[in-house]
Amino acid sequence: MQLPDSKDLQAAAQRLAGVAHRTPVLRSRMADAASGAQLFFKCENLQRGGAFKFRGAYNAIAALPAASRAAGVVTYSSGNHAQAIALSASLLGAPACIVMPSDAPAAKLAATRGYGGEVVLYDRFRDDREAIGRQLARDRGLTLIPPYDHADVIAGAGTAALELFEEVGQLDVLLVCLGGGGLTAGSTLAAAAMSPRCAVWGVEPAAGNDGQQSLAAGRVIKIDVPQTLADGAQTQRLGDLNFAIIRQRAAGIVTVSDAALISAMRFFAERMKMVVEPTGALAAAAAFTGAVPLAGRRVGVIVSGGNVDLTRFAGLIAQPAPDASDSRSAVRA
Ligand SMILES: *Cc1c(COP(=O)(O)O)cnc(C)c1O
Repeated sequence: MQLPDSKDLQAAAQRLAGVAHRTPVLRSRMADAASGAQLFFKCENLQRGGAFKFRGAYNAIAALPAASRAAGVVTYSSGNHAQAIALSASLLGAPACIVMPSDAPAAKLAATRGYGGEVVLYDRFRDDREAIGRQLARDRGLTLIPPYDHADVIAGAGTAALELFEEVGQLDVLLVCLGGGGLTAGSTLAAAAMSPRCAVWGVEPAAGNDGQQSLAAGRVIKIDVPQTLADGAQTQRLGDLNFAIIRQRAAGIVTVSDAALISAMRFFAERMKMVVEPTGALAAAAAFTGAVPLAGRRVGVIVSGGNVDLTRFAGLIAQPAPDASDSRSAVRA
């Protein structure tokens, strides 16, 4: 298993220069007061395609040999990775085939097709999407680009944190939204290169703490599909590369409740005028609930995405603020 390193991170940064948005780093006095820290929000909700996933997808396709790129790519995802692959492939002139569940929201299917991706539907309850992806790759000579367990996807994702360190300098703590572990693993590579004493924490939903269980067990633990608002973190297990890197380089993994996600989304909307999707609010929720001790520290917070159906968004932030401090916990790497 060849783990990506700082050279892969630098190569990703070069491929993405002038293509990915250099997203803003925002501050909020209110957020600083609420957390007792200096918070630096890296706003990947304002990235192309609405999430950091563009970075990994574009980097992985751009890194392919020209012939493989021309033959095309395939992936399976119902979420932000699908759109990121479709958009990146169209920018790089590669055909893209996206395996999506037949009950995916119409808006997501339309967005993926709108970027020029060919959508192949499967039945979520009957079919194995990974097997379909592999089959398409074999039959049509496509390259499979999975959502997180891939060296170039990890390196690309790490460029968000790289830009954050370039802009604000060294940090004491970096909080990162965690699903399959691409963004967290990539962020630890950036921290190692730019701010070696920075403690990088992955933040996952309390309802699906497979990452914590995996650190505690010393091997990747698979769980049932977790019931959480954070649909981008409904992964059942960390990737193998991701786990190896996180175990080696991250400080640990903390959890937050869905109630804390809603509070953080409300905060972003009300105070910072930003639409952030539930998964994109994981890291900020950890800062606000004190899942990691932050008093007096310089803290980076990756805001990972903003793709949420507006009706759903309105419904979530309309709820009265619940008690968000419950069900937080920390497991060290
Ligand atoms: C995919 C995704 C995540 C989780 O990223 P991983 O690399 O799978 O850990 C977090 N936030 C958003 C918005 C995502 O789309």
